[in-house]
Amino acid sequence: VERAVCAAIAGKREQLVELLQTLVGFDTVTHTPGAPPRREAALQTFLADRLRRAGARVEVAVPAADLVAGHPMIPAGFDFAGRPQLVARFGRPGRGRTLLLNGHVDTVDPDPVAEWRHDPFAGDVADDAVHGRGACDMKGGVASMVMAAETLAGAGVELGGELIVNTVTEEESTGAGGLVSARTLTADAAIVPEPTRLGVGIACRGSLLATVTIPGRAGHAAIPDALEPFGTVNAIEKVELVLAAIRRLRARWRHRPGHPHLSPPDCVPTEIHGGEWIVSRPASCRLSCHIQFLPDQADERGWGSLVQREFTEAILETTAADAWLAAHPPTVEWTLAGVPPADVETGHPIVTTAVSALQAIGRPGTIAGFDNWHDGATLTVEGGIPAICLGPGDVGLAHTTREHVPIADLVDAAQAIAVTAMRFCGTAGG
Ligand SMILES: [Zn+2]
Repeated sequence: VERAVCAAIAGKREQLVELLQTLVGFDTVTHTPGAPPRREAALQTFLADRLRRAGARVEVAVPAADLVAGHPMIPAGFDFAGRPQLVARFGRPGRGRTLLLNGHVDTVDPDPVAEWRHDPFAGDVADDAVHGRGACDMKGGVASMVMAAETLAGAGVELGGELIVNTVTEEESTGAGGLVSARTLTADAAIVPEPTRLGVGIACRGSLLATVTIPGRAGHAAIPDALEPFGTVNAIEKVELVLAAIRRLRARWRHRPGHPHLSPPDCVPTEIHGGEWIVSRPASCRLSCHIQFLPDQADERGWGSLVQREFTEAILETTAADAWLAAHPPTVEWTLAGVPPADVETGHPIVTTAVSALQAIGRPGTIAGFDNWHDGATLTVEGGIPAICLGPGDVGLAHTTREHVPIADLVDAAQAIAVTAMRFCGTAGG
């Protein structure tokens, strides 16, 4: 049966490419605060019709905002208006396990559009790959998981449990779509087909967004320091001390025991805004950082409060050596609570099953990490649904103007997902 399903998927290579081209053709650039929806609803309706024709029980609905309101990832005033979420169910909960296939259909902006060699919304085929925004992150994965579910249903495979196909918005912005899935769906495990080049991604880092405000004291740029005891203080020059503290923290994190499948924790300065006037010594400077942390650095709830404390202490410890900053310490603000890291045991049945399925289709089934956060972390940490990543394409191309996905990966991902579903959920009589 597995061979027949895989042969059927290989025979639908062209349909799989067309499905991905159609998905890329919907502009679903993610939600930015206050901006109207793009074509998320049209894409979800298109997939709903398709999955219904394949025999699924499908719901497409705009969730109530209070389903996610107050959660540490969700900004105040957030709502889903115009951005529905899709849940399609194949089979019935039975004696076998239930598997959730979850993918996001939003993308980042294609900017800078002039840098693209292919129209980002055309889904051009070149060099045995489909090109366009979202091709690998992650409409390619969505196409593969939809094709896997359709093919299982079309081949009359009766799974021992339910197979849920779930497509969400908001992954690239707030994570709210994945949070709705975590709060409303139940499953024994999930596959999120983010681009892993067909590896089994068992873990991801969490992240935090910090903004450090460094105070100075304003004064005329051409007049030598006069005010006592400190005179004027150039806040931009004082940022050097904060950068030194960050360098020291990064070095310490690089040398702490790490995770076998993830890069070390990191802190990357990403934005700086300082000064008020070109002829004045700056009264303040703000430096923002993107912090990535490992599962073993999380607090008892799975979030980053301990890392927040460590970061703040590292900044204050270094800057306390400076007389001005000791008397006027920098302040640290956090953008919401960031997002949590996640880790699934390598011995969990979803991991061992996915590895065996990949090996059955001729792929090595390598266990890997996924350095950046994705909705699977929310499913694992907030929903209690252990989620692995397993999908087509290379995450190094995500968010770039060269984004594409190899067609061979799309086919292999669909096969790997279908075989994993059969082995994980069990099949009637098998
Ligand atoms: Zn993604």
